[in-house]
Amino acid sequence: MSGDILLTPGPTPLPPQVREALGRPIIHHRTSQYRSLFRRVLQRMQAVMQTAQPVVCLTSSGTGAMEASVVNLLSPGDEAIVVLGGKFGERWQEVCAAYGIRAAPVPVAYGEAVDPERAASILRAHPKAKAMFATLCETSTGGVPDIQALAAVTRASRAVLVVDAISGLLADECQTDAWGVDVLVTGSQKGLMLPPGLAFLSLSERAWALVNEAKTPRFYTDLRGYRKALADDDTPFTSAVSLVVALDEALTLILQEGVPKVLQRCGLMAQATRSGVEAMGLRLFAQRPSNGVTAIRVPEGIDGKSLAKLMYDRSHVMIAGGQGEMAGKVVRIAHMGHIGPGDILAGLAALEGALVALGHEVAAGTGVQAARAMLESIVHSP
Ligand SMILES: *Cc1c(COP(=O)(O)O)cnc(C)c1O
Repeated sequence: MSGDILLTPGPTPLPPQVREALGRPIIHHRTSQYRSLFRRVLQRMQAVMQTAQPVVCLTSSGTGAMEASVVNLLSPGDEAIVVLGGKFGERWQEVCAAYGIRAAPVPVAYGEAVDPERAASILRAHPKAKAMFATLCETSTGGVPDIQALAAVTRASRAVLVVDAISGLLADECQTDAWGVDVLVTGSQKGLMLPPGLAFLSLSERAWALVNEAKTPRFYTDLRGYRKALADDDTPFTSAVSLVVALDEALTLILQEGVPKVLQRCGLMAQATRSGVEAMGLRLFAQRPSNGVTAIRVPEGIDGKSLAKLMYDRSHVMIAGGQGEMAGKVVRIAHMGHIGPGDILAGLAALEGALVALGHEVAAGTGVQAARAMLESIVHSP
């Protein structure tokens, strides 16, 4: 419904400029007009992804780019390392399994942050591993690992580091080139403020060398074709024209504000959410909380699914429940992209209302007050 407040970690709300662009008449993709737009968009994506490497754009959801990185970097029977700790870390493992890649897990309990030393020792035990797969914002737990430390660990090995930044991009800091992240994967429907449908990858020289050696069968996702087409500002297959046109508008908004400011603003929304939630007596799920999404432990005796449903029914605020084993025990509030202070305050008010309706005691207005105090203290500080 149009009056809904979407606080879900994808899709996220669309700014008016993006919605307007999506409604424009379509242009043809094999034209100089489109090519120059496509070139500009990919150059600006380099700034957002903090890399000087070429950016490849796929028409797929984010998982398509995850799969593209597995099939392009590795061959059946190859070894890899997968950092677990949530449903998306497990997705890397599932994609590897689907292609016969032997993925050694770095086990991480849900909500906890990976110990980079542990990852290093597993990498040392698998000296043939060609890649380590990790997740920037583990959307299922609301946690963010120390990617910089994981990058340092992989630099000391022959493995490339592949990071799923689908929800983490523009929410949690990730200095792709400066830290030595070899492959960064992202999608359109989170921090980029677009509908679902586009996915992006950037690859280091080390990673492109693997692409040329990999033996896994691939066709649509063969990155060699995309790299070749990039020379002509083109894609091997039909580009998602309208989404790319809308992305140009989203990137104008993002780069006018500046990536550091966007990260700072998202961090402020996260801090306000966390302080509001904690003021209501609720506990965070993640040890190292992400700025993209806050996962909240649902109090004993309350079912998280009913809580989220009640929030929607009463207030038209849509949040996410828990995934897998976390279903019912966790609810998640996103604050990435085009989600502002008013949305966060509305979300906290709706959360309070639903908790009270389910019999959980919350002093009236505590969450909203704490969040507002946080928003104001930072807005007014020099
Ligand atoms: C949303 C998300 C995905 C994405 O997937 P889709 O294929 O776009 O549904 C992958 N990883 C993370 C961490 C995500 O948050």
